[in-house]
Amino acid sequence: MTTDSHDMFGPLPTVRTVPVLVPMPAATPYSYAVPAGMAVEPGSIVQVPLGPRKVVGVVWDGAEGNAVDAKKLRPIEKVFDCPPLSAEMRGFIEWVSAYTLSPPGLVARMALRAPAAFDPEPMVEGLRFTGSEPERMTPARRKVLELAGDGMSWTRIGLAHAAGVSSSVVDGLTAQGAFEPIFLAPPPLVAKPDPDFVPPSLEGPQNDAARAILADIRAGGFSVALIDGVTGSGKTEVYFEAIAETLRQGRQVLILLPEISLTADFLERFQDRFGAKPGEWHSDLATRTREKVWRQAATGDIRVVAGARSALFLPFENLGLIIVDEEHDPAYKQEDRVYYNARDMAVVRARIAGFPIVLVSATPSVESQVNCQAGRYKKVHLATRFAGAAMPDLHLIDMRRHTPERGGFLSPVLLRAVGKTVERGEQALLFLNRRGYAPLTLCRVCGHRFQCPQCSSWLVEHRFRNQIQCHQCGYAEPTPNACPECGTLDHLVACGPGVERIAEEVEKHFPDARTLVLSSDMGGVKRLRLELDAIARGEADIVIGTQLVAKGHNFPLMTLVGIVDADIGLANGDPRAAERTFQLLSQVTGRAGRTGRKSHGLLQTFQPQHPVMLALVSGDADAFYEREITERERAALPPFGRLVSVIVSADTRAEAETHARQMRHAAPTLDGIAILGPAEAPLALIRGRHRFRLLVHGRRNSDMQAFLKDMLQAGPKQRRSIHVQVDVDPQSFL
Ligand code: ADP
Ligand code: ZN
Repeated sequence: MTTDSHDMFGPLPTVRTVPVLVPMPAATPYSYAVPAGMAVEPGSIVQVPLGPRKVVGVVWDGAEGNAVDAKKLRPIEKVFDCPPLSAEMRGFIEWVSAYTLSPPGLVARMALRAPAAFDPEPMVEGLRFTGSEPERMTPARRKVLELAGDGMSWTRIGLAHAAGVSSSVVDGLTAQGAFEPIFLAPPPLVAKPDPDFVPPSLEGPQNDAARAILADIRAGGFSVALIDGVTGSGKTEVYFEAIAETLRQGRQVLILLPEISLTADFLERFQDRFGAKPGEWHSDLATRTREKVWRQAATGDIRVVAGARSALFLPFENLGLIIVDEEHDPAYKQEDRVYYNARDMAVVRARIAGFPIVLVSATPSVESQVNCQAGRYKKVHLATRFAGAAMPDLHLIDMRRHTPERGGFLSPVLLRAVGKTVERGEQALLFLNRRGYAPLTLCRVCGHRFQCPQCSSWLVEHRFRNQIQCHQCGYAEPTPNACPECGTLDHLVACGPGVERIAEEVEKHFPDARTLVLSSDMGGVKRLRLELDAIARGEADIVIGTQLVAKGHNFPLMTLVGIVDADIGLANGDPRAAERTFQLLSQVTGRAGRTGRKSHGLLQTFQPQHPVMLALVSGDADAFYEREITERERAALPPFGRLVSVIVSADTRAEAETHARQMRHAAPTLDGIAILGPAEAPLALIRGRHRFRLLVHGRRNSDMQAFLKDMLQAGPKQRRSIHVQVDVDPQSFL
């Protein structure tokens, strides 16, 4: 006979369970038990056991349960003393997860990137004057008491420093009862910005632009505006007004910038306008500082954050506006773990939470232009530079006719222009988007090319370091003297230019000029910031730089920009090649003449009839966009069609290819969706992994996510050795 415990003892005690999203590539949250007396709600940030580890998770939405057999479920260990992730933030995480086809736990992890910030910052120990004087007064003691007599609280060290005495003097006074210990709240990282600290005087077109944007901010609710204004038109001043208005409404602001760690002058400009710096968020911050920014954004102590794309996942207490500066910039696309475009996801966050977003660019993305044409975004146009400064005069140099001298890359026309600029005491920038000395080294005797042992890319010579390096994986070896293939000594030859090689050529022609090479491999962020400042102060005559110099810096003396190879980006099979080249070259030439001096841009090209070159020199951006939009529409390319790329990588070429083929065969057929490939990726090998690509193309209204889910489900069993990466709206086709 069986005994029914219910009958004998009444109902068994049950345990409350909640879903918890953990930082794992799982499709759904896991259930955990809530210990008696513990208070949790959806959004609570908690510590839970996961296998042998303890991880940080978030109590998620979804059915709570009651478990009878509590032994099977592990309990939540701890609830952090931290504002819970809001319903909006949870909705945003779900949305990004569904759109990018990434596990929700991995998206949530991006919102929790501040390990020690979940508990409150510890209080700081301080001292307060009690009013009682010590029995014996000394000059040192007098100094301390004079300072502390103001009734303010001090830290022990701070007080000693301020009084110019050793801390034992302070200790002596404390022992005598002159001070009592107190606890102070940790100081905020940045002061509160004041929307009316230094109100600007906007000029005509800026006023109209600001009015149009402010109308959206005052109306509240979701809206998207695009500020499309030429370089130097004062777009920043205009969106500062939107920020001021949002601050007056008591809400927080997020400013996304593509290269925040290098834009120190942006922070200063912000401070001049608002009387305090914004909180900064990027990967070069010290861990402690990052944690403080995270915490203070969550508590509302920080009102404005300026950050790189990952700042989009900060859990703001009351976010009311996002600005996406340089919205066209490819740096907004993350291609690591969760593949997402921060510009697009910022629009999603604003829509979910119901607040305005402002996109800003001198060369907007085709996507945003089309959204304006369709009336989904409001377009605000600034056609001229601030204070009547002229745009640089742009000319093409036809390299078929103006041949550089043997072994050189700079045409006589460009060299002459550089010479004249330097003579006038002004600055010239030579732009080449290639780091190092030469992109390829080969042996003149046997033709051997130096290739990375683990990637399908050439090793790039870096002369300053005396190394050849792989720009894919970082592999490096000392620059060899002899060919490893045929053994011949001293017959290796550098093919093509990098910035270091251009610097060599410049130094040969202008031995007395102060030449500076600026490229991301030439030192850490601190050094680069210092060099950018030095250029702005006029401490270099000729700057040779990669795209690092294209972004947002003001160089008052710069009046000539020379593009060493304007064709560089046009050759690859990227559907955005024309757009990218147009944007990059407009931005780089836009560095010239921003403070009103007459300025020039010279573009070396072998294709002077190319539509991109013609659009650049005519200054007719509208014609360029019209043409590009028509072509995209005809080919059903984004934003008129949708693309998802799937990269299959494996240890062997055969494995990768077989898996990719099987995926394709198993894929469902659906009207309006086509699969291209698999084909070996242009970068067929990265870090020893062989890569094959499938490109899924769909109509504008196709449900790509549903199709891909089905395709992945129907495909071959996932094996350990094989990795499948889905990239929705790909930017890179390598
Ligand atoms: P953009 O962001 O469009 O490239 P900026 O906002 O950087 O342009 O403005 C270009 C320059 O003009 C900056 O040096 C800025 O300080 C100055 N400027 C723009 N608008 C004003 C204004 N209303 N009053 C004073 N200076 C301004
Ligand atoms: Zn490599």
